[in-house]
Amino acid sequence: MKKVFGWVAVFLLLPMMLWAQPEIPISEWTGRTILLIGAHPDDDAQSHGTLAMLQANGNEVYVMLLTTGNVGTGDPTMTRDRLSKIRRQEEVDALAELGIPESNYINLGYTDGMLEFADKEELVKDIVWWIRKLKPTTLMAFDPGYGYQQWHKTDHRAAAYLAVDAARAAEWRLIFPSQIINEGLERHTITDYLFYSTTGGEANTFVDISAYAENKVRSRSKYISQFTSAFDNYTGPNPEDLPGNEGEEFLERMRRGVYERGAVNGVPTERFRYYKGNPDGAGSRRGGY
Ligand SMILES: [Zn+2]
Repeated sequence: MKKVFGWVAVFLLLPMMLWAQPEIPISEWTGRTILLIGAHPDDDAQSHGTLAMLQANGNEVYVMLLTTGNVGTGDPTMTRDRLSKIRRQEEVDALAELGIPESNYINLGYTDGMLEFADKEELVKDIVWWIRKLKPTTLMAFDPGYGYQQWHKTDHRAAAYLAVDAARAAEWRLIFPSQIINEGLERHTITDYLFYSTTGGEANTFVDISAYAENKVRSRSKYISQFTSAFDNYTGPNPEDLPGNEGEEFLERMRRGVYERGAVNGVPTERFRYYKGNPDGAGSRRGGY
């Protein structure tokens, strides 16, 4: 009896599991425009292997971060202005390791930690402008949840919803119509989504990033002001300027993160929840949109 239930479950789930995968594996994507939306410089880092792969395979990859990351420091001498400049350079240097040019990095300039208190209409309008301008085929964003809301910390929570809300607004001609009437942009519908920071059980797409693991190690090692003692006492962008042998240890830690903690069965891997369909259904368990 148990066996019968097992087979019935497989029979019912199989079409859903197949449906959930990209029809063409991500490693074979080419000619697409990918827009990743995050809240802070480094939110894209967990997807760096996939971004490097997409860029190398002839896709156009854009990274849009909503805040400048100008608050996250323990250094008592640091200012918001100086930190936003440091975080920008770290992000640009990290993307360069993935083959993504600075011109494909968009920062909307909002204050770190305050996204949920910013003017939501203005924020969505800004993101919609970029979606209508770049016409991405695929949107990458924090996973807002599937069936249930997924908990993220404040800015990540905001970025998850803002990204999908903007994708929805971008497709309606009469939402922010001035962009269309006065700026010559067109409505745009995104029907392809790769959600990152998804809960383990909801991930349905695993990307083998072996060929780009070194790029990811190097790109992650650019975020010195976040991942080292420079968080509390900024000493500059070079790992060798960190005290003692911390620079070497830092690079080793970044390497282990990619090759060990980020590995599935020994293979460096990134995981996503893939969704294909109208933005209205991006978090719906029922689908049908
Ligand atoms: Zn973040």
